[in-house]
This record gives sequence, structure tokens and C-alpha cells, in this order.
Amino acid sequence: MAVPCVRVKRSAGELTRHRLADAGLLAEQWDLDAEDEYVYIPVSDPTAVPEDLTVVPYDPPVRETQTMPADVLGTEPSYERLGDLAIIDVDEPEHEQNVADALWKSDLPIDGVLNRASKVKGQTRTRDWDVLRGDSTRTVHREYGSVFALDLDEVYFSPRLATERHRVIQQVTEGEHGFDMFAGVGPFAIPMAKKGATVVGSDVNETAIEYFRDNARRNGVEDEVTGIVGDVRNLASEYENWADRIIMNLPHSANEFLDTAVQLASDRAVLHYYDIQHESAPFEPGETAIRNAAEPSYEMSVETRHEVRTYAPHEVNIVLDVELQRVDSTEAE
Ligand code: SAM
Repeated sequence: MAVPCVRVKRSAGELTRHRLADAGLLAEQWDLDAEDEYVYIPVSDPTAVPEDLTVVPYDPPVRETQTMPADVLGTEPSYERLGDLAIIDVDEPEHEQNVADALWKSDLPIDGVLNRASKVKGQTRTRDWDVLRGDSTRTVHREYGSVFALDLDEVYFSPRLATERHRVIQQVTEGEHGFDMFAGVGPFAIPMAKKGATVVGSDVNETAIEYFRDNARRNGVEDEVTGIVGDVRNLASEYENWADRIIMNLPHSANEFLDTAVQLASDRAVLHYYDIQHESAPFEPGETAIRNAAEPSYEMSVETRHEVRTYAPHEVNIVLDVELQRVDSTEAE
């Protein structure tokens, strides 16, 4: 059976396998294979593979020795991997136990199975969890070569946003100033610093900022990032006219923080604005809100309108990349 595989020269095989493993992109049900001068590495999400790598269809050997959850359950269960945890979203108690059993008895390298027990809620956007196997909600997760320690019981984190974060981080240039207004444990801010930016991240959740600082150390960028505990609206005056790139990942209420974003923006800044809207017109409310906050001091131009994922039936999580240019500086050019 042909599956998407990254094809590289044998000499680059080991390095590439590590890169793909760090990005969580290895398809574990197949083994890699070598033919002529090439190695074929099966990948789980070909759209997330870095652009410098070539993806081709290839028929790799099935990993016979591994027992996968589907072998135990009889059907393929839906789950996400976060570090050494498997995360499921199952309502029926009996099915919940069967899925947890299948994951636990499989050969997947996991130390716990968690079921979502509530929606994300409150200002910290955390949720309740049922710990079905193992004994902890804490883990260390790898994403595109960065490591993030976190405790899901105390902080927000979604591995589903890995590809989107990578899209933004690829735009970062050496020496720029980045401000992540809702920073969590640092999955935007820390890779931005690794690309040479000086980054400030703020969060009302004190535990998230403790992890943010710990993660900065784990990734060797503690001198390039500053984590601040508090409501970003109360911190912005210290960083007025400072930020060249601003991340606003607080969908549902980011519009309430646009005056603060404008306050933070330097003469020419890029805003990455996340929103959740009805699929019929997902971009318009955000564009209007940004225009109202930015004009007349700034001219705005929308560089990207992108659907990140489906959030709920007929609701989509979107991002707008918007360039803000201060009007005075335009006239001066
Ligand atoms: N950017 C992180 C990520 O991608 O994992 C976290 C995003 S999470 C959706 C939003 C974060 O904003 C939460 O960690 C929450 O505690 C924080 N937050 C909510 N209101 C805030 C405010 N007024 N000022 C600063 N942080 C806030």
C-alpha cells in the first residue's frame, strides 16, 4: 500500500528521521525503507512536512512487531499524542475504558491516557481531565525541534496547532521584536527566539509563565525571552511602540485586546490574529475590528486569510496575518 513518505539520500536519512520525529510527523505503523541511493520515511501528515523535503508515495514495510491500538480495539480509535500522553475525547464510559485499554496495551510509547472531561473554560482556557491510565497530567512534548514541559491540568496547550505555529515561526526574522500577548507555556515565543527574535510573552496564568520560563531554559533561549505574569492590558505601556510581530492567540475574545495590540505595535508590525467565527464569513469580523482599532494611526493590509481548522459544526478557527504601518512613517518615506 502506497503511503506518503519523505524521500532523502541515504546520507541524510538519520538526520531527517530525527527532524520528522521532533515534529511528531513519523507514521509509526510503517518502517522506513531504503532503495537504491534513497531512504523512504513514512509520514503521518504530508502537508506539515517542511518545504525543503520531498514527499512521494511509496509502499513501505508494515511494522509487524508493533501492536497498534486498532489491533486491540478492532477499529482505529481517534486520539492525539502529547509527549508521553495519549489524549482522547470519548463520552460513553464503556467505550472510554475500551479505548484507554487499547492505547495502554498497544506498543505506543505512552505513560498515560487522558480523556477530555470539559470544554476549555475560564480566563486560563484550561479544562478538566479524567486520568484513565497512568497518574499524571504533566508531560514534556516535542514540536518542530523545541521541547515544552507542561501540566494540562494547569495550563492550556493544543498539539493540533503545531502546523499553524510553524507557519508563523517560519516568517520570523533575526533581530525582530516579538510580543506574544497570550503566551501560555511558550510554543510561539520560544521557537521565535530560536530564530533570533527578542520575545516578550505575557499570560494571566502564573503557572503557565513558570513553564514558559522553564521551557525557555530547556530550549537555550532564556536570555532572549521575557515572561510576564498579568493581564496584557496592564503591561502594554512598558512596551509601547516596541513589537514588530504580535501574536494574539485568544480566539473568541481577541477583539477586546486590539487597542492593546496597536499600543504595542512598532511603526511597521505584523499581527497574527486568531478568531473563531461562522464558516459563512469567518474573516470579516476580525478585519473590521482590526481596522477600527488601527485606523487612522496605522494603515492596515491583510497579508493572509487562513482557516486553521474546523472548531465546531459550521464554526472555523481562522488566522489573519495583518501588516500595520504607522501613517506618519508612510508619509516620511
Ligand atoms: N499561545 C498559547 C498556545 O498557543 O498554546 C496559549 C493560548 S491559550 C488559547 C490563551 C492564553 O491566554 C491562556 O494561557 C490564558 O491564560 C491567557 N490569557 C487569557 N486572558 C489573558 C489576558 N487578559 N492577558 C494575558 N493572558 C491572558
